[in-house]
Amino acid sequence: MANERVMPEKIRCDACPVMCFIADGKIGACDRYANHGGDLVRLDALTIIENTDHKLVPFMKDSPVEDWDGNIIQGNRPFVTAVGAGTTYPDYKPAPFIVSQDVEGVDMVTVVTEGIFSYCGVKVKIDTDRHIGHECDIVRVNGEPIGHVMTSEYGSKMLSLGGVEHLTGGSKKEGRVTCDALLKLCNREAVDMVIGTEDHAVTLRVEAGKPPIINGDEEKLMRVGCGSATIGMFAKQWLTHVDDVVVVDDHITGVLSEHQAGKMLDVPPTGIKINGRRSTPGRYFQVAEPGTGWGGTGIEDPLLILGPFNPKVAWEGLRLLMVSTTGEQYAYFELDSDLVPQPAEIPHALRQSADLIAENCEPSICSVLFMGGAGGSLRAGVTENPVRLTQSVKNALTFVSCGGAEAYVWPGGGITVMVDVLDMPTGSFGYVPTPALVAPIEFTMRTADYGTLGGHMSEIKAVSAVVSEDTRKVSSMENQADPMARSNYSWSREIT
Ligand code: SF4
Repeated sequence: MANERVMPEKIRCDACPVMCFIADGKIGACDRYANHGGDLVRLDALTIIENTDHKLVPFMKDSPVEDWDGNIIQGNRPFVTAVGAGTTYPDYKPAPFIVSQDVEGVDMVTVVTEGIFSYCGVKVKIDTDRHIGHECDIVRVNGEPIGHVMTSEYGSKMLSLGGVEHLTGGSKKEGRVTCDALLKLCNREAVDMVIGTEDHAVTLRVEAGKPPIINGDEEKLMRVGCGSATIGMFAKQWLTHVDDVVVVDDHITGVLSEHQAGKMLDVPPTGIKINGRRSTPGRYFQVAEPGTGWGGTGIEDPLLILGPFNPKVAWEGLRLLMVSTTGEQYAYFELDSDLVPQPAEIPHALRQSADLIAENCEPSICSVLFMGGAGGSLRAGVTENPVRLTQSVKNALTFVSCGGAEAYVWPGGGITVMVDVLDMPTGSFGYVPTPALVAPIEFTMRTADYGTLGGHMSEIKAVSAVVSEDTRKVSSMENQADPMARSNYSWSREIT
């Protein structure tokens, strides 16, 4: 008799369009689901946030569960997040968990699901003056384009990464690399990037909550302000110690003797000449090319931005301080008999002023904000009438959170949300190989409002039926609103 090959029983995962067949003991393509003896199980535990008075942050993934007594009725009120909740697919199915609980006499419901976001990306804010690339320069990971440089903000460079254009609009490899980079960034891992083309390529390492590493150097400080603002802030401290001060900045270089702050403090003209485009008195644009030198310019020698002093105004012995916007670079000069600046030992008081600038700078960090749209499909898991959910959110009847963290909901159509990944529990994000990111999203409202918007009322479970000893418990974030707090909702402001 021929040996019959016994094939392991496979089950079909229906949590996303990939529809994996998973053999017993194996996991699906996204590492999130497994076949355990014929049961399809979500591998990460459902995560709840304990609303305690002692708010401990940040949550560390592998830390032990603390003092959980399992008594959710008498214990602190838990908030069920969508982290580990799973996904329902196709879209008409109710969300995986729809849980209710009494909150200070109000019957509240939270609809939780791990949304599959094909339309999503991250916005990265990098606190640095250093040049990381021109606006619109392409950001690459492993040679694949994953996004671009956006308009700079005050003291920070900005990146827009991901989005449907890169996830699905390019090659298969581009989509895969983009998805992987987004996943790592959202889960607080470091990602190495290259910005720009060969003639001006910059290497950059981004990790949420950590300083950026630009061309191999770790950034330390975010500038105190632009060159003009720095003149305004510290003008008084320079009086009597120096005749003129130049704060070198790629955007707005400030000159004390010409600046309004200098005028108000009776600082006399010095005949200084700045090689740049004069905007208003004491404020100059484009003094040098951008780079990773002084104040985000490409220069290491600050004298390169100076022209000859006006001999009718300047004098031998004129004292000049040049300093960057972070106070990390400074140099002191005195004019010789030819009115040429010569390096000299910096007086103690001026050195202290540079230190004070540095002291007033904040640490440079990378901020990673996940941004995604809860499309019609995701909303259908909440209600049979998806547009009513949008209206409910806009009317502040429904509070949107991601992993328990308050999400900023953009104005206009749809439910387009943005959230700081550092406010979310660790390991909040997953992926599916379509490719798309999997992110937790919760909608909380009064049960009565849920009924009004056409919610899946028959699917509501008491929170006590959902939370178990296997549930992962995390402490609430110190800076985060309780998603179930009355103050989040317009009805709390109604006059009764
Ligand atoms: S990729 Fe993951 S969620 Fe999608 S079908 Fe496979 S196991 Fe299920």
